[in-house]
Amino acid sequence: MIPYAKQEITEQDINEVVAVLNSDFLTQGPKVPEFEQALLAQTGAQFAVAVSNATSALHIACLALGLGAGDLLWTSPLTFVASANCGRYCGAQVDFVDIDLHTYNLCPEKLAEKLALAARNNRLPKVLVVVHFAGQSCDMQTIFALAKQYGVAVIEDASHALGATYHGEPVGNCRYSDICILSFHPVKIITTAEGGAALTNQSLLAQKMALLRSHGITRSPELFENQCDGEWYYEQQLLGFNYRMTDLQAALGCSQLTRLTDFIKRRNVLAQNYHTQLRGLPLELPQLLAQTQSSWHLYVVRLQLEELKLSHQQIFAQLRKLGMGVNLHYIPVHLQPYYQALGFKRGDFPCAEHYYSSAMTLPLFAAMNDGQQQQVIQTLKAVLEAAQ
Ligand SMILES: *Cc1c(COP(=O)(O)O)cnc(C)c1O
Repeated sequence: MIPYAKQEITEQDINEVVAVLNSDFLTQGPKVPEFEQALLAQTGAQFAVAVSNATSALHIACLALGLGAGDLLWTSPLTFVASANCGRYCGAQVDFVDIDLHTYNLCPEKLAEKLALAARNNRLPKVLVVVHFAGQSCDMQTIFALAKQYGVAVIEDASHALGATYHGEPVGNCRYSDICILSFHPVKIITTAEGGAALTNQSLLAQKMALLRSHGITRSPELFENQCDGEWYYEQQLLGFNYRMTDLQAALGCSQLTRLTDFIKRRNVLAQNYHTQLRGLPLELPQLLAQTQSSWHLYVVRLQLEELKLSHQQIFAQLRKLGMGVNLHYIPVHLQPYYQALGFKRGDFPCAEHYYSSAMTLPLFAAMNDGQQQQVIQTLKAVLEAAQ
């Protein structure tokens, strides 16, 4: 099976991890701050907090922004469940803003309408989580201006978008957000096995997230609330977690990050091949805004089912049977039983549901070779031509 995504691990990656195994610190050593510095150099943000995964990054980002019981968090229905669950961890209510059917990102016009209505009803969200779907940045200038107008904090879920740009600047620089989070799961752009990070330009948010990452404990004397009893002294100042990244993971991350440019180049070549070679088939191909360069985490096509004799499920099943690891990102979050139990129902976010009725993610990863991609293209062509 050609998977939809897969990590690329080199001899250098392995050597860097082994070097940590042979060192004094497996965790809480020098590699985590080194990885954080490398992420800052890549993105241009001022502060980075590396954590155990992107889900924990989202959680501490929400807490640092003061999200709690009685508050509201809004996100896109077309995302991995973690972008919404972080609100629930904080006891907040979650709601969604439907997507734009060209970019598949949260739709700025629908956001404007929903904010205006929420302002009239005195039910504005405290936090908006936007998702750079498939690696294409949302229209952050418009979204951030709206968020500022209504006093809403913005978290960018850039789990797909490390290495992407918006108006020529790297995603992650937090120019149009309070916090930007990244994921380093093996299917993402770079990997630390499990891992994530929260980036920000606000020192107080960075300080708070660093505390939350490690039990709410600080060892910095300048931050102590009580008198320092001696050199052993530390303070737990709030209820935090153990969301730390290990030095083994950070070493892998540092090594992977040195190849980010190559990864993005390769992903772009593969996406371009799909673009040119899938043209003319009964497929809706991805569309990019002029101001964005995608990291091409995902290459998603939508089947033009009105031109096909087979159903979405049948075409998907045929491709899987032929060894093509197609996938579907994502089942709209509000259709998950957990969210339905909270009152969401089919029909609530029609664009995300319409997308879901015909979408399919094709295999695309930096280590994919030309032969594998040709297999995907030829198999897809054959299946679609037979179905017409
Ligand atoms: C992968 C992903 C996450 C969660 O990442 P983890 O590192 O696995 O916790 C969150 N949001 C989006 C959009 C993702 O794709």
